[in-house]
Amino acid sequence: MQFKLNSLLRPHIAKLQPYTSARDEYTGKIGVFLDANENPYGSVTDQDYNRYPDPYQSELKEEISLIKQVKPSQIFLGNGSDEAIDLLFRAFCNPGKDNVILLPPTYGMYEVSASINDVEIRRVALTSDFQLQPNKVLDAVDDNTKIIFVCTPNNPSGNKLKRDDIELLLRKFKGIVVIDEAYIDFNDEPSFTTELDNFPNLLVIQTFSKAWGLASLRLGMAFGSEEIIGILNKIKPPYNISGLTQETVLAAIRNNKKVKKMIEGILKERSFMQENLEKLTFVQNIFPSQANFLLIKIPHATEVYNELIEQKVIVRNRSKVLLCEDCLRISVGTRKENEEFLKALVKIAPKKV
Ligand SMILES: *Cc1c(COP(=O)(O)O)cnc(C)c1O
Repeated sequence: MQFKLNSLLRPHIAKLQPYTSARDEYTGKIGVFLDANENPYGSVTDQDYNRYPDPYQSELKEEISLIKQVKPSQIFLGNGSDEAIDLLFRAFCNPGKDNVILLPPTYGMYEVSASINDVEIRRVALTSDFQLQPNKVLDAVDDNTKIIFVCTPNNPSGNKLKRDDIELLLRKFKGIVVIDEAYIDFNDEPSFTTELDNFPNLLVIQTFSKAWGLASLRLGMAFGSEEIIGILNKIKPPYNISGLTQETVLAAIRNNKKVKKMIEGILKERSFMQENLEKLTFVQNIFPSQANFLLIKIPHATEVYNELIEQKVIVRNRSKVLLCEDCLRISVGTRKENEEFLKALVKIAPKKV
């Protein structure tokens, strides 16, 4: 396998001159700043937000670099992981010509982003126990295949994909293998970031939206070779991460005692949910989960889902998704929320069997 990033890149992106600001030329913090048409008086809020934030997010990347053990130059930060996913399409996939491979059932944003960018999707289903079929994936590859999206632990099934299968793709595929690790914090498997030096075609995606409890701030991360990260940085909107987000996440990382506690709590509640669901004879399957949700199979899932909504209990109906017939995906909540869900389910579901 020969990996040549430049031959994957869309030609106009290779030539692109990125946006620059005067603060690329003057990097001091002290001075009379009359370059960016900001409001000199401050903000209408208690906190001052009148200055544009650091477009390189340097301080935040230094801190993330320490907890993730990658170089700051190997980190891209996006307005949610969704931004990284979209930028990958825009950098590498020529609309109407190139294609990407998705492994259903999987996270819905890959498909949406591909469609927005008018990029062909090739689907290679996971097995019935939600594992990769690496040789079938490689059979689906042609000269215009640019990216394979792998999600592990997988959403919506919750399981980890086998590492050997993923490594086979990394070795054999000459395009980019994206490994979406949004749920990495809920299991003890090492991150694929440890493999960055071995695979120049690897891009790992993580997020602050799940374990860190910061979904509202919108901060996603991508880790890859300096080359790939350089391209994402070149085409991102300059101020894609707000100053508020940068400051808040910086403080969260520096004082991160709460994260471990919250993860432990979620794992305990996941076991609680699992044990209680196992007692319910009408639940046909509880798929093993290494994430913060459970996928369950239940007769007449859509009807159950609708009646749960009437009880103001909202879960995710996945029953129309390939290999997830009659399946509901339930996020792990607090003990009180989990009990309310179980109570509502017991009230509704047996009537449907
Ligand atoms: C939740 C989730 C994300 C996170 O997306 P953000 O845009 O960072 O909030 C990414 N990938 C998968 C598979 C997810 O389930």
